[in-house]
Amino acid sequence: MDFELTEEQKMFQTMVRDFCTKEVEPYAAEWDETGEFPYETVKKMADAGLYSVGFPEEYGGTLDEVAFVIACEEIACVSAGLSVSYICSLGLGMYPITMHGTEQQKSHYIPRVTKGATVAFGLTEAMAGSDVAALETKYAEEGEYYVLNGNKIFISNGAEADFVTTFATKDRSLGYRGISAFVVDKDTPGFSVGKIEKKMGLHPASATELIFEDCKIPLANMVGEEGRGFRVALEAIDASRVTIAAQAVGIAQAAFDAAVAYAKERKQFGTELAQMQAIQWMIADMATDIDAARLLTYRVASLTQQEGRAPLKESAMAKLFASEASHRVCHKAVQIFGGYGYVKDFAVERYYRDQRITELYEGTSEMQRMTIARQVLGGGTRT
Ligand SMILES: Cc1cc2nc3c(=O)[nH]c(=O)nc-3n(C[C@H](O)[C@H](O)[C@H](O)COP(=O)(O)OP(=O)(O)OC[C@H]3O[C@@H](n4cnc5c(N)ncnc54)[C@H](O)[C@@H]3O)c2cc1C
Repeated sequence: MDFELTEEQKMFQTMVRDFCTKEVEPYAAEWDETGEFPYETVKKMADAGLYSVGFPEEYGGTLDEVAFVIACEEIACVSAGLSVSYICSLGLGMYPITMHGTEQQKSHYIPRVTKGATVAFGLTEAMAGSDVAALETKYAEEGEYYVLNGNKIFISNGAEADFVTTFATKDRSLGYRGISAFVVDKDTPGFSVGKIEKKMGLHPASATELIFEDCKIPLANMVGEEGRGFRVALEAIDASRVTIAAQAVGIAQAAFDAAVAYAKERKQFGTELAQMQAIQWMIADMATDIDAARLLTYRVASLTQQEGRAPLKESAMAKLFASEASHRVCHKAVQIFGGYGYVKDFAVERYYRDQRITELYEGTSEMQRMTIARQVLGGGTRT
C-alpha cells in the first residue's frame, strides 16, 4: 500500500500549483464577479500542457489518471468555476469519444482539446435529470445525416464549447435502448445556445440550454454503437465522478487554508480565535474531513490507472463523501470568519457558494447512495 505520489506526479503538482498561483488565483474573484469566461487563461493552460493530461500519448496526451485528478484539485482550489470547465473539456465531455469513439473521432477531437478547445456534455433535459433514460431529444436518420431535435438544459461550458457530446433517442418507446450518443460541432446549422442560467456559483463557466432544431450532423458523428448511448453516458459519468470529488477536495482545501490563517490572526476577548477550543475542534474536523476525502479520491484515481476503468462503488463513495465533506468544511470556514465570512471581501463566501453544486451534478448525493447500496447489496463486497 503506497499513499505517496510518484516523483513525476509531485513535480506535476508543483507545476500546476505554481501556474494557478500566478495565472488563476489573482483573477478568480473578478471572474466570479463578472462571470466572464477566461479564454486567455485557457490558452495559457493549454500552452503549459494542462489540456493534454490524461489523454493517450498517441493523440498528444501526457501523464496519467492521477495527474488529471491532481490538476482538477489544484485548479478547483483557486477557481472552482474554471475547474468545472476544465473537467468537462478533458473529462466528462470527452469520455464518450475517448472511451467509445472511432479512430477518426479520436484523432480529430482529442488534439483539438490538447490545444485548448472547450467541450460540453449535453445530457440533462427538463424532464430527464436523475432519470436520464427519460430524455426526449430525438434523432432520425435522413440519407447521409442524422437530424437532431430537442433541448438540453444546465449544460456546463454550453456557451463556450467548441463541440458537444450529446444524447438523443430514436424512439422513446424503446426506453434506454433507443438512446444513441453524438458529437456536434458548435457551428452546425440548427444548433444554438439558449437560456444562460444565473447560478449560485461557478460563475466563469456557463450552464446553458442547448437547442437542436433540425440539426443535421454527418452519420460519422454518432459516438459508439447505435442504441448504446445510455451506456456511453453512464460510463462517462462513472469515470467523471472522481474529478468532481477532486473539485470538492480543492474547494475544501482553499476554505480550510483561509480559515486557519484567519483564526491565527483574528483576536476576540484578547486572544486569537485559534486559541479557542471551539475553533480548534472545527479546524480538527475540517482537517480530518479533507484528509479522508482526498484519500478516497486518490484511491479511485489510482485504481482507475491500474484497472483501466473507474471502480463504480469506490467512485460513488469518493464523490459522495468528498462533496459532503467539502460542504461541512466550507460551512465551518464561514463560521470561523463570523460576519466577515458572509461578505464578498473574503473568498470563503465564494467557496461556500461554489461547493454546493458538487452535491448535485454528475449524480446527486442521493443517486450516489443508491449506486453504493446497489453495489453493496448486490455485489457481496466486504464494505
Ligand atoms: C451548474 C450546473 C451544471 C450542470 N452541468 C451539467 C452538464 O454539463 N451536463 C449535463 O448533462 N447536466 C448538467 N447539469 C445537470 C445536473 O447533472 C442535474 O441537475 C442533476 O443530475 C440532477 O437532476 P435534476 O436537477 O433534474 O434533479 P432531479 O432529478 O429532479 O432531483 C431532484 C431531487 O430528487 C432526488 N431524487 C431524484 N430521483 C430520486 C430517486 N430515485 N431516489 C431518491 N431521490 C431522488 C434528487 O437526488 C434531488 O434531491 C448541471 C446542473 C447544474 C445546476
